[in-house]
Amino acid sequence: MRILILGGTREARELADIASGERGYEIVSSLAGRVREPVLPVGRVRVGGFGGVDGLREWLGENGIDAVVDATHPFAGGITANAALAAADAGLPVLHVRRPGWREEPGDSWIRVPDLKTAAEAVAGLGDRVFLTIGRQGVAAFAEAGQWFLIRAIDPPEGAVPARHELLLARGPFALADEIALLRAHRIDVMVTKDSGGALTGAKLTAARSLGIAVVVIDRPALPEGAHQVETVAAAWDWLRQLGSGESAGGFE
Ligand code: NAP
Repeated sequence: MRILILGGTREARELADIASGERGYEIVSSLAGRVREPVLPVGRVRVGGFGGVDGLREWLGENGIDAVVDATHPFAGGITANAALAAADAGLPVLHVRRPGWREEPGDSWIRVPDLKTAAEAVAGLGDRVFLTIGRQGVAAFAEAGQWFLIRAIDPPEGAVPARHELLLARGPFALADEIALLRAHRIDVMVTKDSGGALTGAKLTAARSLGIAVVVIDRPALPEGAHQVETVAAAWDWLRQLGSGESAGGFE
């Protein structure tokens, strides 16, 4: 079976690693090409957009793909929607792998918001020194804000940025002690994060809790209606194994 894994996440790399080592599975991983020096999965990798739903559907046919695993980031809503539509058009099974979101714990002070625009409005009343840890995409939503921002991302943001800011280029995982030290050193009043979930970048939330710092948490976009979803790489591999054995694994939308 030839499987397309839409990637850019640790889960996508782990699944490619597992499936590539098994007889009967040929994996092609796809990256958007946003990160300058991406961590590459094992096996065949292609980079760059497909050209919308039509482009992806054509690519699936031309490359003899049997099933699609969308293991993109929980906030990559565009490619997720495209994957669901293109796979349905092509009559292929599709699975969405979404790690669980973070959960508020006792001692947390979270404000949940639906999108970046609302997040920018929410930080206005929460202090002057903001830790913006939403990746490099979306920083422009804060460009008009009057506060000082510490912006952490893997690569520099493109487009408008807040007038008062410092840029910190870094890639997780981040250790708790380092996160606490960072928040202290920059005298952070409020943090803004996407609800990305996962352990690689979760320490910042524990750090905020221990220092009593408010966190604005941006909710995930919804998955396409009727999407077949699993939370773990193990469950995704089960799904692929069932497909390979000819059992119905679900996910034909
Ligand atoms: P997006 O808004 O959902 O996608 C925009 C367009 O980028 C898609 O329509 C598609 O172009 C192309 N694209 C996205 N992911 C692709 C992939 N894996 N392979 C080929 N083309 C892809 O996505 P995004 O938020 O820009 O994220 C891009 C990638 O970065 C994703 O693979 C995601 O896993 C990763 N990532 C995203 C975030 C985040 O917060 N959004 C964080 C970490 C990593 P065409 O329409 O031309 O096919």
